Amino acid sequence: MKYVLVSGGVISGVGKGIIASSTGLLLKTTGLAVTSIKIDPYINIDAGTMAPTEHGEVYVTDDGGEMDLDLGNYERYLLSSLSRDHNITTGKVYQHVINRERIGHYLGKTVQVVPHVTDAIQEWIQRVAKIPVDESKAEPDVCIIELGGTVGDIESAPFIHALSQLQRKAGKGNFVQIHVSYVPVIPPGPGGEQKTKPTQRAISDVRSAGLNPDLIACRCEQPLEDSTINKIANMCSVEQHQVIAVHNVTTTYHVPMLLEKQKLISTITDMLDLKSIPQTPERKEQGSRMWNDWCDLARGQDFLHDSVSIALVGKYTSLHDAYISVSKALEHAAMYCHKKVQIIWVDSSHLEDDTASPADYHKAWHAVCTADGVLVPGGFGNRGTEGMMKAITWARTNNKPFLGVCLGMQLAVLEFCRNVANIKDVGSEELHPKAENHAIVYMPEVDKGKLGGTMRLGRHPCVFQENTEWSRLRGLYGPSVSQIEERHRHRYEVNPDMIEQIEKAGLSFIGKDTKGERMEIIEIKDHPWFVGVQFHPEYLSRVLSPSRAFLGFFAAAAGCLDEVSKAVVLGQRSIGRKQ
Ligand code: GLN
Repeated sequence: MKYVLVSGGVISGVGKGIIASSTGLLLKTTGLAVTSIKIDPYINIDAGTMAPTEHGEVYVTDDGGEMDLDLGNYERYLLSSLSRDHNITTGKVYQHVINRERIGHYLGKTVQVVPHVTDAIQEWIQRVAKIPVDESKAEPDVCIIELGGTVGDIESAPFIHALSQLQRKAGKGNFVQIHVSYVPVIPPGPGGEQKTKPTQRAISDVRSAGLNPDLIACRCEQPLEDSTINKIANMCSVEQHQVIAVHNVTTTYHVPMLLEKQKLISTITDMLDLKSIPQTPERKEQGSRMWNDWCDLARGQDFLHDSVSIALVGKYTSLHDAYISVSKALEHAAMYCHKKVQIIWVDSSHLEDDTASPADYHKAWHAVCTADGVLVPGGFGNRGTEGMMKAITWARTNNKPFLGVCLGMQLAVLEFCRNVANIKDVGSEELHPKAENHAIVYMPEVDKGKLGGTMRLGRHPCVFQENTEWSRLRGLYGPSVSQIEERHRHRYEVNPDMIEQIEKAGLSFIGKDTKGERMEIIEIKDHPWFVGVQFHPEYLSRVLSPSRAFLGFFAAAAGCLDEVSKAVVLGQRSIGRKQ
């Protein structure tokens, strides 16, 4: 196994995840099988209980793991399917070691951070790195390990120690480290000076922690000057080709190309002797096709002019990362339609007349009323849900394309019950526990007491129902598809006892689970696009294979739904282009 460790110095949040996934993508395009592991040194067992406004979206894997959002980048870039074990946290490792201690595994020894925790980390990495993750089901050749946070944080010390031991054990030619640093420009903007001191400090910190980076990736707002690269190489005692410059680019899709231009792949290929790994001509061919497709799409993005505006009406809009997979899925759909997406972030509580200030209220309503489509994504708790329902009423009654995801779908059902089916005092058990009637109820098998990992999680099938061939969403799958699989994360569901009443009033349940008990997709026939899904289609959306629910919604907002439906059923990669 070959390892590429991507660590960070100076500050976090400068795009370490994108550099790591772009490196993985580049390796994959050479025909290698690539996997990835994300290490998060926090004590939480997983990201499931963390507030989206603080930590960004919780990404859900097929097996129901609730993960850090970087795992989403890996899956999207490497077209892989990772498991919960591909995200290692301090909490998980300690839980594992403590469970072993309780069953006498350590034979009476004092259990310590070194060697017991550090050994557990290495064993975990070595075990998980071998799991096949892509469609080929081949054992991976290379594992990208991203270490979250910055080197020097108290929490990351055991991981650094474990990784330096892993580096030694793996041996020369099997382990490469990329340290991501930041080069500030002082004063900011053109004419400012590119400062190398933080990078020099970061490299000396990581070396004193026991790791010796082979490559230094420098993030900078502007292209690095040659003199800056020279200075970093000199001061950090590395060759110039070991300093990789990663300046700001128009979209993150350009980062792999930026790295490729600086010969990152041939450098890593030499360092890890990747040429010695046997490869079939098909894999090589597949890899180069993937690279061509990627470059086409990334370059194509720069020539898109028409934009389509989508009002994203949510409660965590203060941190856009809270909806990262949703915005990526919209981007994938937009690329398919040769359009740009303009997301207008609307805080749903601003749509409520009794809570918002007049200025916020008018701004928010202006955004919703002028957008080409309205999207209500997932969420938890009561705040802002009345505003979301008002936006839904507007989209439904004004024939505006609407997509509701998870909570968005539940609220669409509730809005329909209140305003069309005229069900008295109707609410959701989550949001209005005191209501007389509940259109959205607690799922029977879900554990009420505990929070972490107790929702209905992961990949489950959804069956299209009889007599729903008219469905616009189904139209994007074609007549031969009767069942799909999507990832879930919810505790509540549409009340099965109210289905008949709701359907009679005109809202159809297009998709249900295999037993027909759980409502998965809603749609209104007499509307250009009014679709709600209980699952999260954004988690499975990929650049070259956009989620159908997002694609149909976006295409309806862009006015090209018919063209897109035809193209996608024929297997075309975008409208107007053959496969
Ligand atoms: N709060 C809702 C539930 O638990 C919706 C969850 C979500 O949007 N992910 O069912």
